[in-house]
Amino acid sequence: MKSQERRYTLNKFKKCSKCKEEKSLDCFGLNKNGRYGVGNRCKDCNLIYFKEYYLKNKEYFNKRSREYYLKNKENLRKKSREYNSKNKEKINKYFKEYRSKNKENCKKIVKKYKKKQREQLEDGYIVQLITQNTGLTTADIPSELIEAKRLEIKIKRIIKEE
Ligand SMILES: [Zn+2]
Repeated sequence: MKSQERRYTLNKFKKCSKCKEEKSLDCFGLNKNGRYGVGNRCKDCNLIYFKEYYLKNKEYFNKRSREYYLKNKENLRKKSREYNSKNKEKINKYFKEYRSKNKENCKKIVKKYKKKQREQLEDGYIVQLITQNTGLTTADIPSELIEAKRLEIKIKRIIKEE
């Protein structure tokens, strides 16, 4: 758009279809299908609309993102496993160097990390428990087994607390 044309359109006004107020075009979001190349609702009304839409459909959005995660969990895990085995030496070297540089600090971090993993029953912690007790390797463990083990630990913890 040439600057002259732009100035011309910016001086135009449009009535918002929602609040019915006449506002200058820069108060509207761009929409190439709308009159003057902007949408029918002003930005203020749009914001309210999207907020309401989100709140109304919050559960749906949450469900969708959970479903996406669950659907792709196995795949994501597989990818990180593949990456780890491909880059084993590189990763080991990196950690070795890192550990020797940050010996004390590292101990603290590992302790904290392990505590968090234990408390939140993260996959890594559960996998470690299973491999310790069964001799399976990480690659042998399906996600169902991890879920089952997590449930078992949860139940045990609840029983302990009572
Ligand atoms: Zn409006």
